[in-house]
Amino acid sequence: MTQALLNTVGTTTLESALKGLRCKECGQEYPLKAMHVCEDVCFGPLEVVYDYDVLRKTVSRETIEAGPNSIWRYRAFLPVETENYIDVGTGMTPLLEANRLARRLGLKKLYIKNDAVNMPTLSFKDRVVSVALSRARELEFSTVSCASTGNLANSTAAIAAHAGLDCCVFIPSDLEAGKVLGTVIYSPTVMGVKGNYDQVNRLCSEVANTHGWGFVNINLRPYYSEGSKTLGYEVAEQLGWELPDHIVAPLASGSLFGKIRKGFEEFVKVGLVEDKKVRYSGAQAEGCSPISKAFKEGRDFITPVKPNTIAKSIAIGNPADGVYALEQARATNGNIDDVTDPEIIEGIKLLAETEGIFTETAGGTTIAVLKKLVEAGKISPDETTVVYITGNGLKTQESVQGEVSQPHLIEPKLASFEEALERARTLERLEWKQTSV
Ligand SMILES: *Cc1c(COP(=O)(O)O)cnc(C)c1O
Ligand SMILES: [Zn+2]
Repeated sequence: MTQALLNTVGTTTLESALKGLRCKECGQEYPLKAMHVCEDVCFGPLEVVYDYDVLRKTVSRETIEAGPNSIWRYRAFLPVETENYIDVGTGMTPLLEANRLARRLGLKKLYIKNDAVNMPTLSFKDRVVSVALSRARELEFSTVSCASTGNLANSTAAIAAHAGLDCCVFIPSDLEAGKVLGTVIYSPTVMGVKGNYDQVNRLCSEVANTHGWGFVNINLRPYYSEGSKTLGYEVAEQLGWELPDHIVAPLASGSLFGKIRKGFEEFVKVGLVEDKKVRYSGAQAEGCSPISKAFKEGRDFITPVKPNTIAKSIAIGNPADGVYALEQARATNGNIDDVTDPEIIEGIKLLAETEGIFTETAGGTTIAVLKKLVEAGKISPDETTVVYITGNGLKTQESVQGEVSQPHLIEPKLASFEEALERARTLERLEWKQTSV
């Protein structure tokens, strides 16, 4: 067959790579409907399956590079059936060489995958929502919804607005002001539930059953979660079609963690990158660390907790994919650790000062755990390490408000400025002396 003919065959057979849903536990297969648990057999979670032979024939580095500058360059690996997907510019966020942070920590090759600047709502959740709402539209839902710790509500409301879908989101009533404003501005219906995320989630499961809405992270969860694979694909592509040695990512439900791996492994399967034994390490806040506790205690089950931490976006006390995250860290010689709220704040400031990135509490958690793992010798300086920054600091300003310096208040006069500058320099010299001993 000529190359031209192969290409035509390629584009017309793309759809058939999408096979169906399959239970992660017992393997029972299901059609590509709005469902997320193995209703016929074991109530295990469902996952999207693809025909990798089809993908191997139709996808190459070149076809991907020729695609849009968004997650949709990986469309062949995503669970949509039509070309009518919602592209709001999500994905292809920077992969930065973090040399100053690396030097501070004692690493040689450290990269930051910076989803603090993801589009349209400045968190990694735009990836999963772009995919989930594209699929929701194909499944003909007119109302979309979610149970959120904050960022998911922002993404769902924004992308639903863009796509013209009715939207009703559920959040815990005690979220940060920036997360609430970043939802209501798009004029969805917002329910502030007097309870924690796990209670919100339980309520939403009932609503999903009674109202027939498309909940991105409940009945659409198999499609939604596939969006996180793009955090694997992009890193591989941005590293020059290579896998890293070690990744560090935050854990809430544990979904994103597993999907980074699925992304890497799919690229290996279809021959886009060479295989490598990637190590996967996960980060939690001490005030909500059910996965980390189980990891450190050598347990293979998760004991749910009641969250109490400033890292609200990753505060899930009963994580749906917790057991899979545990297995993944253990099987790959990775680690899972947790850090205190003061360490999270230090993590936010460290990333800001060394790399010019203002992340939210989830990112502070990830940086603080990275630091802890390096200090404990659990990440070697020689490993090419990628740390995932998943959210933006402007949304959780109250967490650092009292922890930063204030502007020098001066008169609009040169003398006043000179005086203040002298005072500032003296203060800096003092601080520098203190931190360098
Ligand atoms: C939701 C979220 C996560 C983690 O997501 P899971 O896939 O549930 O583990 C990480 N970081 C931020 C900022 C989030 O909003
Ligand atoms: Zn099953």
